[in-house]
Amino acid sequence: MSQRIFIAGLFHETHTFVDGKTSLADFQIRRGEEMLACEGDASPLGGVLEYAKKQEWEIFHGIDYRATPSGTVDDGVVEAWWSEFKSAWQPDCDAVYLVLHGAMVTETIRDVEGELLARIRKLIGEDIPIFGVYDLHANFSFSMAANSDCLVAYRENPHSDAREAAVRAAGLLVRCLAESACPKMYLRQTRIILPPTGVGTADAPMRSLESAARGLEGGEVWAVNIAAGFAFADTPDTGLSFQVISSGPAGSAEQCLEELEQLAEDLKEHGRGKDEALEDVMVRLREPTDGLTLLFELADNIGGGAPGDCTGCLRALIEHEIENAAICINDPEAVTQLAGVGIGTKVSLGVGGKGSQLDEGPLNLETELLSRSNGRFELEDKQSHMASMVGDFADMGDCALVRHAGILILLTSNKTAPFDLGQWRSQGVDPAQLDVIVIKAAVAHKRAYDPITARSFWVDTPGPCSSNLKRFAYEHLRDGMWPL
Ligand SMILES: [Zn+2]
Repeated sequence: MSQRIFIAGLFHETHTFVDGKTSLADFQIRRGEEMLACEGDASPLGGVLEYAKKQEWEIFHGIDYRATPSGTVDDGVVEAWWSEFKSAWQPDCDAVYLVLHGAMVTETIRDVEGELLARIRKLIGEDIPIFGVYDLHANFSFSMAANSDCLVAYRENPHSDAREAAVRAAGLLVRCLAESACPKMYLRQTRIILPPTGVGTADAPMRSLESAARGLEGGEVWAVNIAAGFAFADTPDTGLSFQVISSGPAGSAEQCLEELEQLAEDLKEHGRGKDEALEDVMVRLREPTDGLTLLFELADNIGGGAPGDCTGCLRALIEHEIENAAICINDPEAVTQLAGVGIGTKVSLGVGGKGSQLDEGPLNLETELLSRSNGRFELEDKQSHMASMVGDFADMGDCALVRHAGILILLTSNKTAPFDLGQWRSQGVDPAQLDVIVIKAAVAHKRAYDPITARSFWVDTPGPCSSNLKRFAYEHLRDGMWPL
């Protein structure tokens, strides 16, 4: 007789320090056949459904909610998900399989996955196994460990193996059903918080931790997870953690956790992130170079959910009288203010600093209006990361190009990540002729900018994606978290 598996998904990485909430309307919701239609696609759900077909599992579809990373979620989202889960639930299923993220926070629930797993356990009873997959950026809680049997983490960051991890978890579920033996999840939460820039798996400490975890797997140890955590979610569970999924004695699982924790303590310094103090960078900026210098304002990384209007780098350029420089600031208000103004007119403007409470606020500048446009441009590189999102044309919304003391400021009405040089050339600016450009991105700009760049610096400025965790006013962490 084929196994009857109930599948559901809930996926959100909640950044509790960005302004703005995430509501039900921000989620992509799949029900019934829409879920099954994911079979074979690149998502973890697609992977497990394809595997299910090979295993000839009978699939019962619950519900699948997904949203891109953004601010604190409305409580109503959790209740909507739970109510759909309950009504879809089939009590004669043999197992539950969940596709989770693990760092979702609502207005009143800091550990959404732990809360929902506890509710599911109560609904379905102790005997039905709960398996699944989750994102390496999870803040893993004791409720998640106690109320599930085997949740498997991605092992790669960037996440090239999300689908593979989902299939691995499904394979362990096959083992569980065949052996009629369920493993237990043993959790160790460390007192270490690492910023997202410090948890790539190609570098220390994650690389060594992942490799140590692989060495501990086998026999009674079904899987070992390294959960890097998500530093921008303020919860008591935030931080690096490990789980050993084992059907062996508790003592040996704890010993594995001990080993991993010791290794993390030894290597944690490597995970601080590499943003340098702004003042140090400004001094080095004075050293002559032949060509363009990029300043990475990582705290305002547009792709990471930041507003693209933070003023940290612009302030420094002005203060240090750096000329022949350029920055793009998303500021629809300033663009509107310039709507009826003649080209060449001098205007006093409050620039940027409106999108995040972590920024110092708008910068009042005397500017000269150089040009205006509708902000639409054809991509120069049709194979870029940006092309994969927008196609052939990008739309920055209405734009105004202004100058203040040798610094070009491109004011846009739509947040536009710096992934194509057409952003500048369409506005009459040749980026290759500039000395300094501020980049509000971490990785995906490289294809466009690397060919014209002589050197670059990662700088520590205020903003919601800063690697300097001391900049955030945490309220919910456990005591004694490193490096705070
Ligand atoms: Zn992730």
